[in-house]
Amino acid sequence: MKVTEEIFYFPGINFDSNVFFIKDNQSDELTVIDCGSGFYFDRLIKSISRDGLNHKNITRIILTHVHFDHSGGLINFVREYAPKVLVFHLEADSIEKGGNGLLLAKQFGLEFTPTKVHQRIHEQEIIKAGSLNFKVLNTPGHTIGSICLYDGDKKVLFSGDTVFSQGSFGRVDFPTGDSRQMVQSLVQLSKLDVEYLLCGHLNIVTKNANEQIKLSVKNARLFL
Ligand SMILES: [Zn+2]
Repeated sequence: MKVTEEIFYFPGINFDSNVFFIKDNQSDELTVIDCGSGFYFDRLIKSISRDGLNHKNITRIILTHVHFDHSGGLINFVREYAPKVLVFHLEADSIEKGGNGLLLAKQFGLEFTPTKVHQRIHEQEIIKAGSLNFKVLNTPGHTIGSICLYDGDKKVLFSGDTVFSQGSFGRVDFPTGDSRQMVQSLVQLSKLDVEYLLCGHLNIVTKNANEQIKLSVKNARLFL
C-alpha cells in the first residue's frame, strides 16, 4: 500500500513485522525497513510488484532491531538481491554471528542464518533515502539497540517495536528489554512532531500521530 509518493507499507501477516519500502524516485532504488520473518517472502515480493515496485531495485535493508519477526527474512533479501545491510551497532553482532540471545529465532521455531552487516549505524546518524533524511534515534526499552528513524521535515517516524498506534508500545520482557528505558524512549518520541507513524506491528497512522504517541506514554506510565 502506497503511503506517500516514496513510502510503501506491507502489513505483517500473523506475527510477522510490517515491512516498509522507500523508493528513491530519481534512481528507482528501494530501501527496505524491516524484513518480516521470511515465512511470507514470496507473497511480499508479489505484493510489492502489484504496487509497481521493481524488486530488482532493492539495494539496502535497515533493521529497527534484530528480533526474528523483523530479521528472519533478511537472508531471503540477501540471497536474491545482495543489498547493503544496515543495523544499529549494539545489535549488529547478533546478525553476523547468529545465536539466540537477541534474535528469538527459536521462539519462532526456526534457525537464523547469520548475515554480513555492511554498515553499523549510530545514534544521530543521518540516513538519506530518496528525498527523506532520517535521523537515527536509539530508543531502548523493547531491546537495547532498538532504533527509530525520524525525518522532522516530512514528519515521518519509523518506530519499530518501540511505539505502536492507538497508544500501544513494545513488550519489555524480552532479553535486554527495560520498562524504565521504554518510558524514557516514549517520552523522547512524544516530543517529536509526527504525522506518519510507521510502526513495526499493527496499523500505521497517517495523520496527527502525535496524539497517539502521547497516549502510549500515558499507558506505559500506567502499566510499566
Ligand atoms: Zn521486537
